Amino acid sequence: MSAQPSRPTRRRFLGIAATGGLAALLLACQRSGSAAVPAPAAPLARDGGSEAVQPSPSATASPTPRPVPLAGRFERMLLPGTPWETPLVVAHSGRRGSAVMFLGGVHGNEPGGWLAADEVARWQPSAGSLLVIPRANIVATRAFERTLPDLGDLNRLYPGSLTGALPMERMAAAIIEVATEFGVDLLIDMHESWGFFAERTQNGTAFLGQTVTSSSGPEAETIVPALLAIANPRIGAGRDRLVTRDQFPLPGPSPTATPPSNAALGRGSSSLALGRFVPGLTPVLVEMGQQDQPEDRRVALHLEVARAALELRGMA
Ligand SMILES: [Zn+2]
Repeated sequence: MSAQPSRPTRRRFLGIAATGGLAALLLACQRSGSAAVPAPAAPLARDGGSEAVQPSPSATASPTPRPVPLAGRFERMLLPGTPWETPLVVAHSGRRGSAVMFLGGVHGNEPGGWLAADEVARWQPSAGSLLVIPRANIVATRAFERTLPDLGDLNRLYPGSLTGALPMERMAAAIIEVATEFGVDLLIDMHESWGFFAERTQNGTAFLGQTVTSSSGPEAETIVPALLAIANPRIGAGRDRLVTRDQFPLPGPSPTATPPSNAALGRGSSSLALGRFVPGLTPVLVEMGQQDQPEDRRVALHLEVARAALELRGMA
């Protein structure tokens, strides 16, 4: 595929407008941050398409590509100059492809997630771009606490606000800003729970070990089966096999991917809602069980999911 970004044709602009995608196109322009090089328009045109007006063949065959960033690595501080400042590591391959982001340390007492993120931050993708925030709540990781009251719980605060009262409200907004800027299409949020989901006797966030979950974004229905199809054969059939939350049902209400209590309490959402805030992004929440599972195994399993994600995107 050519590395040259091509400007959309007049015909494509008209086609998008005719199929009700004008708002989507304007959104795409905002997203790219440049009116000259709109973000991919064809999928949006399909979403807004109608039976009466078919999108032009060129619109479906070749979405307008974003410019391919030059190969290289750099770090950028999020919330720079504050006590919560934490690095974002960006590794561009120089070749066209996906932008995949990993979050570690959203909760500071889940070391399997942030130690794995430290490792992923050293990887170099063979295509596309890899973005890693190894310690999203760096103060909590230093304190080895889930979070602290004056920080807020990052995983209950999306979409957040850059001027929010809680530092993690600002971090939530900064993560969304970065994901939008780089056109992130897959986000893997690496967590730990206590008990194993398959072994639980009651539902709750303390019993989500070994689950992989998605619930928003264009690939919400397909991404988890695709990841598990790659990762599980390498993990084997043991207790640490990864599962989805619709497996092993218990009598009574099942745990929902995004707890409704957050909305009811007027709080924000977990990372599973990020597909609603970043166009084209599908979020995946990975939870490893800490109960009778050594830390190094939890890290290794997170890395299996990370490898699976990059293989799925042709970036490994
Ligand atoms: Zn967590």
